[in-house]
Amino acid sequence: TARNPHEPEFHQAVHEVLHSIAPVLDRHPEFTGAGIVPRLVEPERQIMFRVPWVDDAGRVQVDRGYRIQFSSVLGPYKGGLRFHPSVNLSIIKFLGFEQIFKNALTGQGIGGAKGGSDFDPHGKSDAEVMRFCQSFVSELYRHLGEHTDVPAGDIGVGVREIGYLFGQYRKITNRHESGTFTGKGVQWGGAEVRTEATGYGVVFFAEEMLSARGTSLEGLRVGVSGSGNVAIYAIAKAHELGALPVTASDSSGYVVDDDGIDVALLRQIKEVERARIAEYAARRPSARFVEGGRPWEVAVDVAIPAATQNELDEADARALIGNGVRAVAEGANMPSTPAAVAAFQASDVLFGPGKAANAGGVAASAFEMSQNASRQRWSFDESERKLRAIIADIHASARDAAERYDRPGDYVAGANIAGFERVAHAMLAQGVI
Ligand code: NDP
Repeated sequence: TARNPHEPEFHQAVHEVLHSIAPVLDRHPEFTGAGIVPRLVEPERQIMFRVPWVDDAGRVQVDRGYRIQFSSVLGPYKGGLRFHPSVNLSIIKFLGFEQIFKNALTGQGIGGAKGGSDFDPHGKSDAEVMRFCQSFVSELYRHLGEHTDVPAGDIGVGVREIGYLFGQYRKITNRHESGTFTGKGVQWGGAEVRTEATGYGVVFFAEEMLSARGTSLEGLRVGVSGSGNVAIYAIAKAHELGALPVTASDSSGYVVDDDGIDVALLRQIKEVERARIAEYAARRPSARFVEGGRPWEVAVDVAIPAATQNELDEADARALIGNGVRAVAEGANMPSTPAAVAAFQASDVLFGPGKAANAGGVAASAFEMSQNASRQRWSFDESERKLRAIIADIHASARDAAERYDRPGDYVAGANIAGFERVAHAMLAQGVI
């Protein structure tokens, strides 16, 4: 805390991992001897930079850019970019730290990083977003590369932003190095299923947890928060697997639709019109909008928080438990507060932490890197099959690690331990660097 003051989200993420891995360190004194933990909590490199750009009114704007390259022990740095006014060093560090273990869990040879800016894309014109992205990458490009650091999307960064970032990268490096960004459009180097992967993956993870208990998603009511990339495709896949997703939200409130969220309408409002969620209820007779609320007061069997960190607190968890929720699969990163996680774990609720449950996005990014490197294209069906297999594998690794350390059914401990073991063994083998 003294070394990293004013970084509450980073402390929260580190505390959770250290708590889980304490028994691993007891069993492996060589990890302590090699200083694995003190090295892991210190990023390999932290880049912070000025991002000046000119808005449509001709005024100069200055935002702050970040890229935290946390660990490259398993492969090139990999992790998304977030553009949101709340972005600060603590948030990017917590995301980068979590990314190390998530990426290790996928078994795909990718290191951990995260980046972004406090730039707010809401209400900006396309031209402003483009100029911002060009300025951002004009500084960051020198730290990127397909063997060095490969950014992707996150909050506020979708295929439009990746396009502008990649275009400027290509121009100033004079290299069409597709593998330097993932989340590209499928027509220009992107991969099938990358857009859908995080949302699909979180639903596959929920299905894995339920099936380990001999049940399935079929016929269950699902509550989703957010209405961005992760939420939209979680809702779509929940429908496909026979469940009924009934909520979606944004920072203005949530909608509940007992007929099931209409994915085409949601996509039109959010992806095409970039409008607010209230618009969904305005156009859909079976839905109503609850201003300023969070969807956790709605009775559901499965909850999928897919907006942002700490969006589901202890009171929300108790409301969900009171309404009989059976499973929670985190689409966002660290959306449940520590007290909410404790409440779920103290009850009989299956709890899949983001590190494991939302790893489908980065797994599909690694598919995109493979296709860029080999100049191959995989079909949608093949990519989805591979995604599903990776999620099943992550679920099995987390479950197995939890059992080996006498925490059966504890996916938080299991995911942290399984990811940590892979990283720690590699750090040990590669020496003190
Ligand atoms: P998007 O920008 O596409 O969507 C984010 C959604 O969450 C929007 O509906 C947004 O509403 C809402 N939201 C964001 N911040 C807040 C806030 N402070 N309070 C309330 N609502 C908020 O982002 P993604 O869907 O890509 O990301 C969502 C979460 O999933 C993040 O935690 C991200 O880290 C995580 N994630 C994403 C991956 C990906 O592949 N995209 C991979 C793994 C994890 P509004 O428009 O009103 O801000």
